[in-house]
Amino acid sequence: MVPNYTISEKTQHFLGLEEQYGAHNYHPLPVVLTRGEGVFVWDVDGKRYYDFLSGYSAVNQGHCHPKIVAALVEQASKLTLTSRAFYSDLLAEYTQYITRYFGYDKVLPMNTGVEAVETALKLCRKWAYMVKGIPENKAKIIVCSDNFHGRTLNVVSFSTDPVARKNFGPYMPGYEVIPFNNLPALEKALQDPNVAGFMVEPIQGEAGVKVPDEGYLSNARQYCADANVLFIADEIQTGLARTGLMLACDHENVRPDILILGKALSGGMLPVSAVLADDEIMLTIKPGEHGSTYGGNPLACKVAMAALEILRTEKMAENAVKMGELLRKGIEDIQSPFINLVRGKGLLNAIVIDHPHEDAAWELCLALKENGLLAKPTHGDKIRFAPPLVINASQINDCVSIIKKSLETLS
Ligand code: PLP
Repeated sequence: MVPNYTISEKTQHFLGLEEQYGAHNYHPLPVVLTRGEGVFVWDVDGKRYYDFLSGYSAVNQGHCHPKIVAALVEQASKLTLTSRAFYSDLLAEYTQYITRYFGYDKVLPMNTGVEAVETALKLCRKWAYMVKGIPENKAKIIVCSDNFHGRTLNVVSFSTDPVARKNFGPYMPGYEVIPFNNLPALEKALQDPNVAGFMVEPIQGEAGVKVPDEGYLSNARQYCADANVLFIADEIQTGLARTGLMLACDHENVRPDILILGKALSGGMLPVSAVLADDEIMLTIKPGEHGSTYGGNPLACKVAMAALEILRTEKMAENAVKMGELLRKGIEDIQSPFINLVRGKGLLNAIVIDHPHEDAAWELCLALKENGLLAKPTHGDKIRFAPPLVINASQINDCVSIIKKSLETLS
């Protein structure tokens, strides 16, 4: 296996502090970052790395994009929080901007991704009772196995990952889990008249970038429409140009009834998420029924508009298509016996490691780190390769060389 890499005293110092004073709810690679710019991050020893995680796809626009930083700094000295007890000029402008951008009647702004998921689920239930006419407390929402929608008690209630669920019960009722990428299962589940919604990730990111068969999303969307069930797309990880189009649903011309966005909506500056829907759904929630102190704050609105604007003006989706193809081809050409599969769309990709050693993916990530590229395994044998969308061809080629060199350390 790969050699033991030395860790500098400085790095060790920060690892020690976090180990002692921080909760142990993550298992990071032993690298301590202190600066980022574009596709690169630097550690406390001044070593530079390609960032192939991009903050779990929150940093699509690249680290510290100057236009987003400028928006943040300008707004930070003007007005940052009003709460929703009062109006703000920026929330007004942002609501118009984002609804026109994505083509929906209304937006409900939140902060983290999981809050937006919770919002979508609440909206779906409200719609079920107020519009569809499902008897009270009977609404059911269909989700997929191997889903990842966040970490709240409600959301882990319908996770199929034992690590995410164990010892967090009792679980929230009202969900049915069906296999991902399985239309007959969806068709069957939709026969229950109390089904209100079907929530799906267009590509399952955390599960290891599982891309469904072509036609899955468009057929699922049609089945939902036929059953008067809301099609809810969690595009928190797949959205905002990551897969080569603005939304992953766009690959199949699918317009979700409820669209959930997060992560890159702020380009990595601060937590900004959003739920978009048309009036029939959105107006079922009335004052006092849902909200958040920070949701829609002026700072977030200003940053989100800048983040969305540069996705378009800098043609990041187009770049994701080209660079994604180059990356997948480069990795396939390595022809390593330890890579079982390269899959993905645009710049949301993963490799599946085939190696007798169960820690091989982690060991490979350590070797990648040593060679100047940061990536993290997900679910044991998969490694996500999702660099910022501003990466260029010579950088991709450089990264492929790093991946090749690192694979050679596995034996
Ligand atoms: N939904 C999806 C598809 C995600 O990938 C994530 C985070 O990785 C979330 C929801 C939760 O977002 P957050 O961590 O911002 O709450």
